[in-house]
Amino acid sequence: MHPEEDPDPLDEEIEEAEEAEEAEEVEEVEEVVFADLPLPTLAELRGALDWAFEGEDVTPEYLDRCAAHALLVQETNRQMNLTKIVDPREIAAKHYLDCWRAARMLPVVGKTLLDLGTGAGYPGIPIALAEPNAHITLIDSTKKKTDFLERAVAELAIPNVTVVWDRAEEHLLRNRYDIVVLRAISSVRENVRLLRKVRHSLKDLVMLKGPSWSREVRAGEREAERLGFRLDTVWEHELPGEMGGRAVLVYRAPGGQGM
Ligand code: SAH
Repeated sequence: MHPEEDPDPLDEEIEEAEEAEEAEEVEEVEEVVFADLPLPTLAELRGALDWAFEGEDVTPEYLDRCAAHALLVQETNRQMNLTKIVDPREIAAKHYLDCWRAARMLPVVGKTLLDLGTGAGYPGIPIALAEPNAHITLIDSTKKKTDFLERAVAELAIPNVTVVWDRAEEHLLRNRYDIVVLRAISSVRENVRLLRKVRHSLKDLVMLKGPSWSREVRAGEREAERLGFRLDTVWEHELPGEMGGRAVLVYRAPGGQGM
């Protein structure tokens, strides 16, 4: 039978993926990719941020805070794998500018936001630093990552962030958010599938995507529609230094439509 015709093939597929992921976590023999790479200095990171944010309406204090987070991420990245992005300009543009621009275009003031699969804190930390009046929850299913985030949030004294170690689809059974944001988790289609049982727990679903966003939107269209996610806004932007196009996709979720 074609998977699309199966009444509910999703549970099985996702369970398989989860089992594979759990097996990975238990092994714990992951080699640290950047263990021996020299660490960029705070000044180098701050300089790269100045370069990436040129022409943006941003305060120096904001970039100082981003540099401090970036340094913590890079230090920790020598002990555990947090990010593959290690060049200062790439860190500045691909992590901080990308997330900051998303914060700028989203109506996050006064809202609750869940950063699903936050990893080293992207996009949640740059959003929290940009919008002190938004409450951001960073969730990740990997304990090592949430341990790092607890430490980072304490060291950087970010008041509007909560860190949660759990699977997002479990957490959302008991908690509601205005916005759920995802970056670098899965395709549009897989992301809406992941949220299918908890789709009433959120009002807006936001995905930060790369240049292939329109193909992904088309591939996920049927699934999104079936589950009641409606694509409302797409905002495209370009990273400097020819680092590529990005898009912010905003879907209205069933939880925001009185469904
Ligand atoms: N948002 C980060 C991506 C980190 S990689 C960034 O843009 O850099 C993806 C992360 O999602 C991993 O840390 C993984 O542990 C986490 N993750 C994957 N599925 C998840 C789920 N269902 N619930 C919570 N975290 C999840």
